[in-house]
Amino acid sequence: MGEFDLIARYFQRPQRPYTGAVRLGVGDDCALLQPAPGTQLAISSDMLVESRHFFPDVDPQTLGHKALAVNLSDLAACGARPLAFTLALSLPQADEAWLAAFARGLFALADAHDCQLIGGDTTRGPLNICITIFGEVPVTDNGSRALLRSGARPGDELWVSGTLGDARLALEALQGRRKLPPPLLQAARARLEQPTPRIALGMALRGVASAALDVSDGLLGDLGHILQASGCGACIDTTLAAPLLATPDVTLDEAERLSLVLAGGDDYELLFTAPAAQGQAVLAAAREAATPVTRIGRIETEAGLRLVDAQGRPVVGRYASFDHFA
Ligand code: ADP
Ligand code: MG
Repeated sequence: MGEFDLIARYFQRPQRPYTGAVRLGVGDDCALLQPAPGTQLAISSDMLVESRHFFPDVDPQTLGHKALAVNLSDLAACGARPLAFTLALSLPQADEAWLAAFARGLFALADAHDCQLIGGDTTRGPLNICITIFGEVPVTDNGSRALLRSGARPGDELWVSGTLGDARLALEALQGRRKLPPPLLQAARARLEQPTPRIALGMALRGVASAALDVSDGLLGDLGHILQASGCGACIDTTLAAPLLATPDVTLDEAERLSLVLAGGDDYELLFTAPAAQGQAVLAAAREAATPVTRIGRIETEAGLRLVDAQGRPVVGRYASFDHFA
């Protein structure tokens, strides 16, 4: 199978005509994208490299899902509506069963978010998947309504969606560093391999949240990005910090639980701030998006990050978040 057959067979979908903002898709030298009047494009790229981001033997269908999910998660963090994406793929060989499964996982998630594949590049080489995604956010006379990292202010409350630490729990189990009961392993593994991008929540938080990002490298490290961009500090109540998957049948001591929740990584949940007066609006947005949220702390004037327990006593510990070049 040649390069062009491969593209036509697995990545071009003549049965699904392009709609909306997409005026031209796969097949020409460029795709054409027309954002609606009153909107601006939100653009993000993520690369997934074999052995670095996924195991060589990972199920290609879940890999197709995850490759797009991590990009959709960036749009969610900005409150953007997904429009389209491009796929740059480097493959060791044209394995048809692999390609069919990869495309199945990819398009199932793409269709669920009405996000169309409009182009890309295909070459032979080590397995490497790079997606660039395009979304739109409203822009008004007062400026963009995108959620940014820089908008947090002292007094704002700090919130997180879903649960944190599940993906790390699964990773440790798959690496043989931890034993989990099979039902819990299955649930945690789904969180690692098939994260749910919080698109509906991100869009519902426009005009409500003051700052947001998606947690990919671990809660504390990613919160650090908001604090740095916003020029403030924060205090987290570690007893509130979004619970791990319900885990009655696994015993984690408090230090382990904290390390998973605070520094786990690969969560793809939204971490956001909102003025205290917007608390009810945050809960309404969460209901509208059918996505649970938990308030875990607040933004403060004093720089740095403080961890406290329910009684306000300092919690000590070192929790490193993930850094490819550390
Ligand atoms: P060019 O030589 O102009 O870069 P290519 O021959 O690489 O074009 O690709 C032909 C067409 O197929 C282009 O429209 C390109 O966007 C699309 N394409 C290539 N690889 C992929 C892919 N993996 N997924 C989707 N579209 C792709
Ligand atoms: Mg090309």
